[in-house]
Amino acid sequence: MPLSPDQQSEIDTLRAAPQGTLRATAPGMEKHLYTAYPVLDHGFVRVVDYMGDDAAICQAARVSYGRGTKSVSNDEGLIRYLMRHWHSTPFEMCEIKLHVKLPIFVARQWIRHRTANVNEYSARYSILDREFYVPAPEHLAAQSAINNQGRGEALSGEEADRVLRYLRDDASRAYDHYAQMISTEGQQGLARELARMNLPANIYTQWYWKVDLHNLLHFLRLRADAHAQYEIRVYADAICNVVRDWVPAAYAAFEDYRMGGAQVSGKGMDCIRRMLKGEDVTQESSGMSKGEWREFQALLDGSA
Ligand SMILES: Cc1cc2nc3c(=O)[nH]c(=O)nc-3n(C[C@H](O)[C@H](O)[C@H](O)COP(=O)(O)OP(=O)(O)OC[C@H]3O[C@@H](n4cnc5c(N)ncnc54)[C@H](O)[C@@H]3O)c2cc1C
Repeated sequence: MPLSPDQQSEIDTLRAAPQGTLRATAPGMEKHLYTAYPVLDHGFVRVVDYMGDDAAICQAARVSYGRGTKSVSNDEGLIRYLMRHWHSTPFEMCEIKLHVKLPIFVARQWIRHRTANVNEYSARYSILDREFYVPAPEHLAAQSAINNQGRGEALSGEEADRVLRYLRDDASRAYDHYAQMISTEGQQGLARELARMNLPANIYTQWYWKVDLHNLLHFLRLRADAHAQYEIRVYADAICNVVRDWVPAAYAAFEDYRMGGAQVSGKGMDCIRRMLKGEDVTQESSGMSKGEWREFQALLDGSA
């Protein structure tokens, strides 16, 4: 279970005490505030705080004295224009602060996004919980034969049982030794900052992660994508559900231009123009490499 009864009670207390404010609030976001959404077997994502809404993006773009809102359709049009033309700074006026519980190997991918503010649970100061990510059977996939960074079919039968046993036993044994090393019963006990080094990468950590909307959308573009590893993608998907309600117009523009759109090279544009004129363009006549041509074809037939 991702939250203890005490933690859940703290969240319930916060949600039971609404506070008056002159600041703009996003109705769609208020329902998410503080709620922990489970991700993987022990993880979660929850919104701790946020600033701004769709109107704040327009307000900044117009450098307005008031809320900056014209009509909803006017604002939606402006947001789509900003997104389409990579006029990104108005999106930086919105911020979100998340509390995330995630396996360390997922955290290593996540932390590569340098444009956020992070404060992680200290395993020098505190003792890590005995919680490890173990994939559900349907996610216990074999190495992909065609993509070095990807997965194939799920393992099954004895092989799946053996892998699950290794994952559970190794994590359990490493944690037992960790607990014994820091134990102070009758002895000094090893420092926590040292004892943690034998813990596996599937143990859970936690952090507060604060980021502006522009950089959050960049993160989601990369991590809610089919090419991202499943274990980080599920966190990105959970965040997408929140962002969709927080800034509906910005999220719709993001879905259209970034998630649904595509980047086409100059050679690609040339091929498209020639195809529209009826030419039978091939990889040889496209000027593209085989790999690039394959990706271009996938883009055109919608399987990318
Ligand atoms: C599918 C996938 C596979 C990956 N595989 C690997 C891998 O094999 N090995 C690996 O090491 N990484 C890998 N990565 C990580 C990837 O290379 C990026 O480090 C990560 O996605 C963060 O992207 P970012 O730098 O754009 O994000 P952020 O750090 O959030 O930066 C956002 C943007 O800010 C700007 N910026 C931020 N910091 C700087 C800076 N110091 N200088 C200049 N501009 C800056 C850049 O424009 C950047 O795009 C992978 C990522 C994905 C999504």
